[in-house]
Formats: sequence, C-alpha cells, structure tokens
Amino acid sequence: MHDDLLLLIISSPSGAGKTTLTKRLLEERDLMFSVSHTTRPPRTGEVDGQDYHFVDRETFDREVEAGHFAEWAEVHGNFYGTSLSELDRAREAGMLGIVFDVDYQGARQIKAHLPHAIGVFILPPSLADLEKRLENRGLDTPEVIARRFNKARLEIEHYLFFDYLIVNDVVEEAAARLRGIVHAESSRRERLAPTAENLLRTGHT
Ligand code: 5GP
Repeated sequence: MHDDLLLLIISSPSGAGKTTLTKRLLEERDLMFSVSHTTRPPRTGEVDGQDYHFVDRETFDREVEAGHFAEWAEVHGNFYGTSLSELDRAREAGMLGIVFDVDYQGARQIKAHLPHAIGVFILPPSLADLEKRLENRGLDTPEVIARRFNKARLEIEHYLFFDYLIVNDVVEEAAARLRGIVHAESSRRERLAPTAENLLRTGHT
C-alpha cells in the first residue's frame, strides 16, 4: 500500500552524529521526518510537534491501545512510538519518502510491518570517539551519558538489521554516502517500472 514512498530508517547509537546527518539530508531532498511520540521530557531547544510529540505516559498508552503506532519501544527508560499517520502525511505532502529516526528495536518492527523499508545504521569511528561526542554535546547529565554509552555496544551488536552501514568519521563524507543511498534507492526498478511500462505503451513498434 505504501510502496510508492521511500521508507528510510536511520539509526545509530546516541552521539554517532545521526541527527546532523539526517538534518542535512532533509534539507537536500524531498523527504519528510517522521515525528515520533515520546514520554521523554523535551531537551533545551526541542520543539513539540517538530522534534517529537511530547506526551505523558497515559496518552502514550492510549495511542498504543488504539493501534495508532506502526511500532513503539522503550529506550533508555522512556517510551517512543511511530504513528502510522506519518506515512499518510508524507504521501499527502507529495514527498519522495519519509525518514524514521528510531533505535534498532524500532528498525526491526518497521521492517516487519513494512518490508520494503531501507535501514541505514550510522557507526562512530570508535567507542572512545562516541564517548567524547556524548560528553561534548553537553545535552545530558553524567548518569544519562553513562547509560547511553553503555547501550551503544548493544545497539552496534544489531547492525545486521540494517541494509547499509555508514562510518561517520568525516561528516561531509558520511553525508555524501547517505545522499548516495537515497539516490540509488530512488532509482529502484520497482519505483520506475510504471515509467518503463509507459514508454512501451507509447513507443513505436
Ligand atoms: P533521543 O531521546 O536521544 O531523542 O532518542 C533516543 C533513542 O530513541 C534514539 O536511538 C532514537 O533513534 C530512538 N527513537 C526515537 N523515536 C523513536 C520511535 O518512534 N521508535 C523507536 N523504536 N525508537 C525511537
């Protein structure tokens, strides 16, 4: 049903640079960011309805029960979910595709429901580098940083869920690779089959 939309899952351990890479991609291509629901409190600078729909646990549970989520998961002690209606929103806006920023559990669930979704996993060049980035971004308390760092190895262990891996060492290079994946995926035979068929119908014999 959603075959015409490019479904792009972008995942990584916290601090691997996923947000920066995703933002760049969204500036360059006709892709919509899927705004998840979360029970996590907003960080400084985050905007409700833009970064996330920030909701309380009760509202989140109601959405789960109503079957409104394509997937949901508990990550770092908070709940996160992807609304099915985001796919319709992207289609109505005439987008090439939609980008899901989810953890590996979300990636697995989205793939289970929507098998043609493409998974991209962003890797840090090293675990030491990841730890440094988590500390330097100054967004979280030391306890939260430690929890996120400890979870990084677990996330990386799940790299097999993804179709593409990008090592984010030099950000320009990683951004170019991500762009390349979107270029290639948007030229898939399945997507362009109607164009080819049209040519055959109208061509000379
Ligand atoms: P953060 O709190 O740093 O924004 O996100 C924490 C983790 O939750 C990240 O790995 C992010 O990809 C993941 N996440 C964000 N939204 C969703 C979602 O809708 N579903 C799932 N499964 N994970 C999500």
